[in-house]
This record gives sequence, structure tokens and C-alpha cells, in this order.
Amino acid sequence: QSLSDDVDPDAATMPLPQSDERRWSDTSAYARKKILQSWIQLPNGNWELGKILKTSGEESLISLPEGKVIKVVSETLVPANPDILDGVDDLMQLSYLNEPSVLYNLNYRYNQDMIYTKAGPVLVAVNPFKEVPLYGNRYIEAYRKKSNDSPHVYAIADTAIREMIRDEVNQSIIISGESGAGKTETAKIAMQYLAALGGGSGIEYEILKTNPILEAFGNAKTLRNDNSSRFGKLIEIHFSESGKISGAQIQTFLLEKSRVVQCAEGERSYHIFYQLCAGASPALREKLNLISAHEYKYLGQSNCYSINGVDDAERFHTVKDALDIVHVSKEDQESVFAMLAAVLWLGNVTFTVIDNENHVEPVEDASLSTVAKLIGCNINELMLTLSTRNMRVRNDTIVQKLTLPQAIDARDALAKSIYSCLFDWLVEQINKSLAVGKRRTGRSISILDIYGFESFDKNSFEQFCINYANERLQQHFNRHLFKLEQEEYIQDGIDWTRVDFEDNQDCLSLFEKKPLGLLSLLDEESTFPNGTDLTLANKLKQHLHSNSCFKGDKGKLFTVVHYAGEVTYETTGFLEKNRDLMHLDSIQLLSSCSCHLPQAFASSMLIQSEKPVVGPLYKAGGADSQRLSVGTKFKGQLFQLMQRLGNTTPHFIRCIKPNNVQSPGLYEQGLVLQQLRCCGVLEVVRISRSGFPTRMSHQKFSRRYGFLLVENIADKDPLSVSVAILHQFNILPEMYQVGYTKLFFRTGQIGVLEDTRNRT
Ligand code: ATP
Ligand code: MG
Repeated sequence: QSLSDDVDPDAATMPLPQSDERRWSDTSAYARKKILQSWIQLPNGNWELGKILKTSGEESLISLPEGKVIKVVSETLVPANPDILDGVDDLMQLSYLNEPSVLYNLNYRYNQDMIYTKAGPVLVAVNPFKEVPLYGNRYIEAYRKKSNDSPHVYAIADTAIREMIRDEVNQSIIISGESGAGKTETAKIAMQYLAALGGGSGIEYEILKTNPILEAFGNAKTLRNDNSSRFGKLIEIHFSESGKISGAQIQTFLLEKSRVVQCAEGERSYHIFYQLCAGASPALREKLNLISAHEYKYLGQSNCYSINGVDDAERFHTVKDALDIVHVSKEDQESVFAMLAAVLWLGNVTFTVIDNENHVEPVEDASLSTVAKLIGCNINELMLTLSTRNMRVRNDTIVQKLTLPQAIDARDALAKSIYSCLFDWLVEQINKSLAVGKRRTGRSISILDIYGFESFDKNSFEQFCINYANERLQQHFNRHLFKLEQEEYIQDGIDWTRVDFEDNQDCLSLFEKKPLGLLSLLDEESTFPNGTDLTLANKLKQHLHSNSCFKGDKGKLFTVVHYAGEVTYETTGFLEKNRDLMHLDSIQLLSSCSCHLPQAFASSMLIQSEKPVVGPLYKAGGADSQRLSVGTKFKGQLFQLMQRLGNTTPHFIRCIKPNNVQSPGLYEQGLVLQQLRCCGVLEVVRISRSGFPTRMSHQKFSRRYGFLLVENIADKDPLSVSVAILHQFNILPEMYQVGYTKLFFRTGQIGVLEDTRNRT
């Protein structure tokens, strides 16, 4: 028996509403009779399934699983799907697409280790936090042969390969979700599939080996995720004409530098530091003057040195092997380790006060001399760089001594720069190694693993950038779905200009508008030597108060109305993080070093500062390097990213974290719901709802309602019958469109026909 004939046809295609949840009151009389079960919201916010015993007007009697019978206002009932729809593998198959039904369906599947579910064109992946038997060669084969068609990352990767070859269009797999949701693992699973199908040249092996390297240098244990990526990543995998992998290229975004010098209690700095301390050979130890992790101040401050189930020493060897494979020479590897040790030793450099104005000088101890030795500089120059600043005043250079906080800043800034340059340098080496198949055919599949929307109790510059990126990605997502819809309309000859779609352009404009947008105003304030976090907040409020996506708040607070909800940011640290200044003295120090890595870092910093600058940063400070602000650089990267993605056919994967304790089998409804809302899964359907979501073929429509016609034209063709029905029932012209094969309706239009049909 066909299910779709038995349910309210309006409900069958009813998309998932977001705010206007589909309640009892929205269902037709016909549908109400069919609804046997309803969702009841418990005081803790969770939903429970109840059987509808009786409905009399305003009130209904519901029996709950534990035998309790309760009386509820009928209006508050949220229809549940018939049991036969339990665990469907595409949410679009649900008759009632309300939030509790979606939550239930994902939970139902999750309990059976079916962690993947489709939501129309999107793949939803719920993190199992344990090994699930869904991967490996047997599964890869099954998806390749199409003998398994359940939703899977492999299926997405398979579609991407096929469409790349069939349409000769580049593809992208865009993975999002919050920290710990499983993006990085999902990206690796996709790469595994691409490598298996496109492998052969050997380069695929190299590509897979970039993962342990980038994870060692760019991931860290946080309170949310033991292996949290602290950077965004796009890997573009190139294919030859024959569909074989010929090379790859990696681009990274916004590495969290601050973690190098400071991290919260219970978190760690980047894995590689602990790996080096635990795994270095005795010879390397001696060369780098290594001590154990807890003796380094940068690593000691958070009281966390190890990760459950992870052997750092063993990982160190994995990383070294991987570096071999991507052709980083042994010498270069040793230089890399020297830079890491230099960063750690810098953190142990201390200062003494030398006069009554609180000016300081570094203590000449083993830490200081080790840093000088490791980067290959003169120890006196290192001391000067850490305790003085050259200021250019008119044509003279004057030497200013630094106070303790200033000296600590200079030291930490140097450590952060060395680390982030090292990270960029490594990515560059990897890219050189992966670019072997330079004969690019132009065909590629890109995988984007980027931080999802973040909204914490306190939100700073990092969240500001991340959420801005997510607005961009959301727009990309919306426009893609719009295009998919549009194609269907065009195919059926529908005038799609009448289809309105939600767009988040207003919020993006709030960020990007010049000169009165968030980023421009931030840059402007960053150039003022007297600018403070408070003057920034006031400036934003002064210029943006009338913007509908912006809300001023008290003090340093301001709120942005994002597509995923409102986020309140605190401007503390915004200016400093946006300027991200590196003193020219420090750059000069690096360029004077005898080792080649520091030299390379210095020149890359100078190259950066030659780029067009947004206003002269720190004019008063004269001698400081002028660089692109962090916000503007990020905006540029995002534009470039969107341009690249814009030329691809996208495939979206939304990762969901079912609990905050990284443990298997625990599914917290509230947490999942909040992510479904944020990552746009509910949005998908809301978008299709804003067009003409209810569709029925001419045949089906005329068969179903033809007998209601007063005038007997039943022998006419389905199209004529359909049009006659529409006229007889006075369905307003803006509420429907007639396509070549189908009729398209806005929501709620079929109800009247259904009701009449049932009464007759
Ligand atoms: P972040 O934004 O912090 O980088 P993320 O979304 O990249 O987070 P992952 O690091 O991919 O999250 O996943 C976190 C952890 O969840 C993994 O270390 C692993 O233990 C587990 N996990 C994720 N996906 C899977 C999976 N498909 N199978 C088994 N375990 C998984
Ligand atoms: Mg990650």
C-alpha cells in the first residue's frame, strides 16, 4: 500500500517548519482524524510520545508511555508520525516534519548506530563517539557498486566523483558543525573514499598523511574536544582525466595563535609540543636542550599534559614518518623541532626590573641562551628585542625601554609569530610536495572542514570571525538550495521570479559594508593609537544602531542578529587581536638569524606588510610593521574561498554532537535541536517552504479532486480538469503555479480541497 495516498497530501510534502512549528491547529480536519500520536513537551523541555485517546474540541486526553493519562489543550499537540515511518533514512519522508519528529527520527537511528541521515540534499551525521562498523574496504566497495544506498559520507563522496566526471564540474564537500561534532573525522572518511576510488599513483597516500601532520600542529585538546582543530581547512584534491588523483592543495584559515602562549585550565596547547617532549630521541633532546612538558611555562599553566588513550611519544613517530612521506627533509624536520623548542624556551624567559620606572631586562639564564642558540641569533640582540623598542620620531630613532607587561607581550608575540609562521611554512612544504601532478586538468573535489557557528556565554573576536564565516557559508548554502529549487521550477515551466527566498544578505552587509560596516569600523578604530575596546563599542553603536541586524548593548557589548540566532559579543581584546602587531624589531631579529627558518619567517612577515594596508596601523608607534588587519585578511580569504566554492557543485554535510561529554550512546534532545537549528538543517526545509512546497502531478490532482467538479468535464485531459478545479475552488492565482507536469502550491492550499473531499 502506498503511504502517500493515505496521508494528507499537504502534510506529505509539508516541509519542516522552524519557528511556526506545525501544530494541531495547522492540520486539516482530515489529518486530525488520522493522527493517533502526538508529542508532549515535558517540563525539562524534552519531548515524549503520547497516544491520543480522545479529542473533544479544546482538550485532548493523552496516554503517556508509563501509563499516565493527561489532559492537554489540543492546540499544543504536535502531531507525531505513524510508527511505519520510524527511522526513515531521509527526513523528507516524514509526514509531519516538526522538530520533535526530527529529533526522534535521528535518535531512533542513532540508537542503532545509523549515524547518517539525509535531510533532503543535506547529509546529517551524528557523532557516535565510538567505533561504528560502517567503514573500510567492504563498505567502500558496497558504495562504489551502489549495492548499499543508505546515507553515508561515502555516498556523498561517490556522488561527488561521479558528478565531477559526468558534468565536468568541480565539486566541493562542505562540512560544518560545532566543536566536537565530527567534522575532521568526516573529512578524513571522505578523503579515504576518494583515495580508494581515485588512487593508483601513490599521491593519495601522501594526501592522507597530511592529516596527522596538520592535526599535530593545528589541533589541541580543549574542554569540548580532545582533538579540536584550531584552524579552518580547505583541501582541494586534483584529478586527472581518467579520474585518478593527481595532486592536492591545502589552504588554512585563522590558526588560533593565542593558544601557544596561553590556554585554559584543563586544555592543552598544540599536540606537537607534548609529542616532541615525550617522543624525541636522546640525541634530539640534547640538541634542543629539551626538558619535560611540565617544566615549560607555556605548557604548565593549564595543568593538563596528557589525553586519555593517547600516547604522545608514539604520535611523535607517526608525525615524523608522515613528514618523511610529504618530503620534508630530515634537516628541515630538525629545524622545525628547533623552532618548537625555541617557542617553549621563550616562554621560560623571565625579566628583572632594572630601574625605578619598572623597566626590565631579560634574565640571562639557560632559557635565554637556548632560545638564541636554537634560532641562531646573537644573545645580546635577543635581549634588546625583548626589552626595548625602537621608535621613529620624525627622523630620529629613539630607544624606548619596556616595562614588565610590555616585555612579556613582546616575548609572547614573538613566540606566537614563530609558531604561526612555522605552521604556514609547513603547509607550504606540504603543498609543494602534493603539487607533483602539475599538469592540472582543472578537475577537483574540495573538502572544507571549518568551525561552525559559535555562541558562548562570552563571545570575543574569534567568535566574531567564525560567525561571520558561517554567515557567508550559509548564504552559499541558501543560494545553492535556491538554485536546486529553481531548476525544478524551470524544468516544469514555472515562473520562478515569484518564488521568494530567505536570504541573510542584510547580516553580511552589516559585516562588510564600507565604510560603515563592522569590519571597516573595527579597522578604523584599530588605526587610532588611542582607540580602546570601549571606544570601539561606542563607535559601532553610534554608526550601526539603526541596522536591523545590530543591537547596541551596555558597555563593551553589542549583539548581532545572525541567521542562527542572536550573539552578544564583548569588544575586549578586539583591537589588539585585529591589529595582531609584530614589532619590527622582532622581525629584524628573525631576519638576522643564522638558521634558515627564522629568516624565512621574517621575510614572509615583511611580504605580508607590503600588502596594501587598511589605514596605517599604529602610526604613532612608527617603527611597527604595517600589516593587513586580521579581520580584513580573513575577509579576503573568505571571498577567495567563496569564489572557489562558487565554481563547484556543493555537497553539504552537517555534523551533530549528541552530548557535551564525548561519550557514546548519550543523546541530549535540547543540544541536538539547538544544532539542527544553527547548522541550517531546519532551514533547508524552511527554504523550500518559502517557495511552492506542495507539488502534485496533473494526473494525481485531477484524479483526486476531479469528482468535486460541478460541471462534468471528467473526460477532459488532466490539465484542463486541474485548472477547472482551481477555478471552482477560488484558489488565488498567487497561491499556485501550473507547471508542464505538476501543480505547485504554497503551503496550506490543499486543505480546503481535502476537507471538501472528505465531507463528500
Ligand atoms: P573541532 O571543531 O573541535 O575540530 P570536529 O567537529 O572536527 O571538532 P572531530 O575532531 O572530527 O570534531 O571529532 C571529535 C571526536 O569525535 C573524534 O576525535 C572521535 O573520537 C569522535 N568521532 C567523530 N566522528 C566519528 C565517527 N564517524 N566515528 C567514530 N568516532 C567519531
Ligand atoms: Mg576538527
